Parts: sequence; structure tokens; C-alpha cells
Amino acid sequence: MNKKSLYSFNLKELESYLVDNGFSKFNADQIFQWVYKKFCFDPALWSNISKKLKEHLNQHIDLSVPKIIWNACSFDGTRKFLIQFNDNNSVETVLIPAKERLTLCISSQVGCAIGCTFCHTGTMGLKRNLKTEEIIGQFLAVSRFMLDQDDSFKNISNIVYMGQGEPLHNFTNVKKSAYLFMEPRALALGQRKITLSTSGLVPQIEKFEEFPPVNVAISLHAAHDDIRSELMPINQIYDLKRLFKAIKSIPLKAHRFITYEYILIEGLNDRMEDVEGLVNLLVKKESKINIIPFNEYPQSKFKRPSDEKIRWFKNELLKRGIVTTVRVTKGPDILAACGQLKSEVEKPNLWS
Ligand code: SAH
Ligand code: SF4
Repeated sequence: MNKKSLYSFNLKELESYLVDNGFSKFNADQIFQWVYKKFCFDPALWSNISKKLKEHLNQHIDLSVPKIIWNACSFDGTRKFLIQFNDNNSVETVLIPAKERLTLCISSQVGCAIGCTFCHTGTMGLKRNLKTEEIIGQFLAVSRFMLDQDDSFKNISNIVYMGQGEPLHNFTNVKKSAYLFMEPRALALGQRKITLSTSGLVPQIEKFEEFPPVNVAISLHAAHDDIRSELMPINQIYDLKRLFKAIKSIPLKAHRFITYEYILIEGLNDRMEDVEGLVNLLVKKESKINIIPFNEYPQSKFKRPSDEKIRWFKNELLKRGIVTTVRVTKGPDILAACGQLKSEVEKPNLWS
């Protein structure tokens, strides 16, 4: 029988498990300290844990973290990891350093079922959902790897569910992972340090009140149904009207807003009528647009607009009162930017 992973337990569950097996509830806190604060996954080194408990854990609980089987660092400091699970499936995880934060972009599925026509991951189809421990395991494996590389490594400060997969398609496991990222005794990230991006799965958006109140980003990418349906087949089921009705149900705390991601693609959604469409959809809403210039990858059929066009599009939205930013492309030389992730080792020079 497969052993249960240690990283699938929240604190309460581990406490009950230990009590049920004749150990002290307080051992849960000590174990959490070792794995989530010190990133030490070898019970042999856990000095304050009894021999009896170590033996029990070794026998009954899986303590392994996923394996990093490849990594590459971009000229801009972005580092991409290929991470492999027990069944040999792998995903990509990207570590993105910035001035005051260190963001980990994590995957929620192997592949993705949504099949957006601009997305490298979408071309894989869905292989399977990741388990909670595999989502948390990406954070643990990368933290351990970086600590071993660099003594001055500072903890990862932000999580974005923007790697491979549609996080709301894996609702239960992603929700549990978000709670573990926030658990003060585990990874202790603030709710504002976590962002979940979704392509717009309406039934799951409607259940969002079950989620911890993390930041939400909606992949909008078009202001008109015909273009959105061409880019994102999901729009053929949940069109803009249904999507915005569902978004209204997301509980937003005061001064919070929803981010709309908008991939800018040359000649497709970068025209004045797109600016006007966005204004119609978003003006007077608590919202912000994050423009993502299309990231090309081998065989991609779309093109990134010129920098001048990107600036023009942004300024037209700003002029109309919409808070707009442009996402800086990170790690393009190692195919680590948004939408370029696919579970195979790709040589950096493929992209150029
Ligand atoms: N599946 C989720 C989250 C992962 S994708 C979602 O779609 O929201 C993270 C972001 O990268 C999304 O906004 C996605 O649409 C965008 N993206 C995908 N392919 C891209 C590409 N080739 N260039 C730029 N952004 C892309
Ligand atoms: Fe899936 Fe997001 Fe890629 Fe669409 S953009 S195929 S939802 S990972």
C-alpha cells in the first residue's frame, strides 16, 4: 500500500494522526519546524524527535520530496526547475527574483485540459492533477536546492499558481495547498503573497468563498467573445457574460481588486476596439489589467507586438482610467516565461 505523504497533512491532521498512534500532539509542531522552517526532510537529523517516532514515520509515512531533475538559470536570474514525482511525471516550476520579493511560480497539474491556443502547456493535454503534497513539494524541493547552493538564500516570499495547469480544475488539492502555504506553523505566507490565476472555470469561481482569500487573477485575453473563444475554448462554454457574473460572486476584502491578465498578440487583440471593449467590461470595477506581451515558443502560431504597440495599448487604457501594468518577460532564454512551460527539458537556444 502507498504510504501517505507527510506534506499532505495540515497541522491539525498531523496532530490527530500522532495522537491516534500513541505520540504527543506537540510532536506535530516539531516535525513542521523541521520540514517547513528548516527544509530538513531526513528524520535522522531531527534531534528533538524520539527514536520510536522516527521509526514509526520511516515505516508508515512518505517523507520524500519531489526530485529536481534539471534546472537552468536565465541571464535575468530567473531559474527554471524540472521537478519529477514518484510516478515519473514531471512539471516545471520557476523561481523569479525581484527587488523585494522572491516569487515561485508553481504548477497545479501535469499538462492542462483547457487547451488555450496560445499556450505551450495547453498543447500537452491533461495528464493528471497534482496532489497537495506535490504542489507543496515544489516549494520544498526548490527551497532545499537553493539553500544548498547559496548560504545567503532568503525564503521564497510569494507564490503564484501560474505554472502548468488550471488550478481551479484541481480545486480540492490546490485549496489545501494554499492553506498550507498560509499556515503559520508551516510556510506562513500572508494571503496577499499568494495569487491564483484561472482561465475562467465558472462553477469553481462560484465556489471561491471556500478558498482562503488569496489574490485572484483572471486570464481574460480578449474583450470580445469571438476572439476569446478562438484563443480559449473554455469561452465557448463560459462566455464573457457568465464569467463576469461569476466574478461578481468572489468575496473581495476592502481595497482589494481582481487582476485581469491580457496577453497582447500582434494583429489579434491589440486594436482600438479591444481597448474600448476592455473599458466597457472593466471600467468602474475593482480591477487592474496586467498586459502580458505574447511569449513565443517553438511552433507558436502567434506573434508578440512591437514594444511601441505594447506602450500604445497600455497608454490608451490608462487614459481611460484603467489601472494597467505590463508584465516584464522573465527568463525567455530558458523558456521560463508565462505560457512557455512544458514538461520536457528544452535547450535554451530553441527559443531564439
Ligand atoms: N492556467 C492558468 C494559470 C497558468 S498560465 C491560467 O491560464 O490562468 C499563467 C498566465 O500565462 C495566464 O494568464 C496565461 O494565459 C498566460 N500565458 C499562457 N501562454 C502564454 C504565452 N505564450 N505568452 C504569454 N502568456 C501566456
Ligand atoms: Fe491551461 Fe492556463 Fe495554458 Fe490555458 S493558459 S492551456 S488554462 S495553463
